[in-house]
Amino acid sequence: MKAIKGKSVYTGTAIGKIHVYSKEQQQVKRVKVENTASEIERYNQACEVAKEQLGKLYDKACQEVGEDSAAIFEIHQMMLEDLDYKDSVENIISTQEVNAEYAVAETGDNFAQMFAAMDDEYMQARSADIKDISERLIGVLSGNNSGKLNTDEPTIIVADDLAPSETVQMDKDKVLAFVTRHGSVNSHTAILARTMGIPALVACGDELTFEGLEGKKGIVEGASGTFIVEPDEAVLFEKTNQRELELKQKELLQTLKGKENVTIDGRKIMLYANIGNIKDLGSVLQNDAGGIGLFRSEFIYLEKNDFPTEEEQFNIYKTVVETMAGKRVIIRTLDIGADKKCDYFNMPAEENPAMGRRAIRICLTQPEIFKTQLRALFRASLYGKLAIMYPMITSVNEVLRIKEIVEEVKSELTQQEIPFGKPEQGIMIETPAAVMVAQDLAKLVDFFSIGTNDLTQYTLAIDRQNESLDSFYDPHHPAVLRMIKMVVDASHEAGIWTGICGELGADTALTRTFLEMGVDELSVSPKAILPIRKIVVETNLSK
Ligand code: PEP
Ligand code: MG
Repeated sequence: MKAIKGKSVYTGTAIGKIHVYSKEQQQVKRVKVENTASEIERYNQACEVAKEQLGKLYDKACQEVGEDSAAIFEIHQMMLEDLDYKDSVENIISTQEVNAEYAVAETGDNFAQMFAAMDDEYMQARSADIKDISERLIGVLSGNNSGKLNTDEPTIIVADDLAPSETVQMDKDKVLAFVTRHGSVNSHTAILARTMGIPALVACGDELTFEGLEGKKGIVEGASGTFIVEPDEAVLFEKTNQRELELKQKELLQTLKGKENVTIDGRKIMLYANIGNIKDLGSVLQNDAGGIGLFRSEFIYLEKNDFPTEEEQFNIYKTVVETMAGKRVIIRTLDIGADKKCDYFNMPAEENPAMGRRAIRICLTQPEIFKTQLRALFRASLYGKLAIMYPMITSVNEVLRIKEIVEEVKSELTQQEIPFGKPEQGIMIETPAAVMVAQDLAKLVDFFSIGTNDLTQYTLAIDRQNESLDSFYDPHHPAVLRMIKMVVDASHEAGIWTGICGELGADTALTRTFLEMGVDELSVSPKAILPIRKIVVETNLSK
């Protein structure tokens, strides 16, 4: 028996045969060709096939993991059209008179190195994407279909690393778990595994060797981040029981549908869902969300090549509130900037984008963009219980300025005889400054929602995008927890409510703490709702 530690991406236990997934078949040979024009043509055809494959992968990912996670495959399609990449491949074929596979491999290596050496972390991460599309192209050119799993029975997949395209391409029924030597917990592959609900460990390091692993029995224990090879009888017995218990708990969760979120001693909490897209609505209803606590409206902007019109936005917001049939839908206004970049905004490059022009700062400096969204939101609020939420607030003045713009929008709509409703308006508390002036802010708005992702980032001074700082990013830090309590107290003093819509809201180790603090709402990914409800109904705060 051997136990190897890795970083856990998704909890849960998996037991089964190990399958080593290797990409060795993709070794590329340099072959001289005479007809370079037909080789270039072969390359162009391969690009078309690859784009088609990516289109299918996008559709599959949309269905299985939602549009946000699937977007990576659209990015890959765009990368295939990149002219620098294409020019480089064609140039290598024609000047060196070599085969397309070799030219793609060379270009892929060169570009991946170039991206990896860039200062910007977002660009560095593109290095993995370049490798992924290059391997896909080589696979098409050489007739090898990488990412196809050739096993009949479900297995634990062990690999050096997995690209997002390989992960999503695998048949979910054939994959018990993923274990990789490299990879980060924030990578797209990790996000996909989490969304697919598959136990996964990444970054197991060099202790994970592949020799002799194929076909052996393995156990992946997500909770402790352990991969056990050839478990002894006692461990196998213990983990099999654990796995059965987990399955029973999963079934039990289904019985919680339709139940109230109330503790044994009567404390109620609202459990809402976070969404980024209309396509997430199915999962919201399936998991019995009481409403939508965070609709990240910036995804509407990110999916387009130009500003979405008032009408386009109105139709989306109207559909969401109508679908939620009277349940509260909190739509966050545009939170573009930092890691969410949109070319057509033409934003100048910044030294420190997480602290730069983002969210409400863009809306207040470019009010014409803000007003279009506000008009759509106010109009759509006639069709259900719509609430508007403003992100990245740091001061009372910002809220006062928002209010002035809102008044302008309302009077313009009135003048134009366009009907609109009376949405609730709240703000996100995601900067330490907002926490410190929460008492003043609470007098101006209808509710607070704490964005713990950014609040942790700004409180602990840790770039949330920087995976090398994972071990320092501690959302359980007492500074963050005390801030949450301060915000809840400030809101209650002013007679308004406070929710949490950052990832911390889904941390079941803190559900009791949040209930004790008096948090009024938790907005989490749809799949996290029922596990939290289970804890709520089993909690007795008087004990
Ligand atoms: C947050 O910061 O916690 C939050 C919910 O917003 P986002 O993750 O979209 O920045
Ligand atoms: Mg945020």
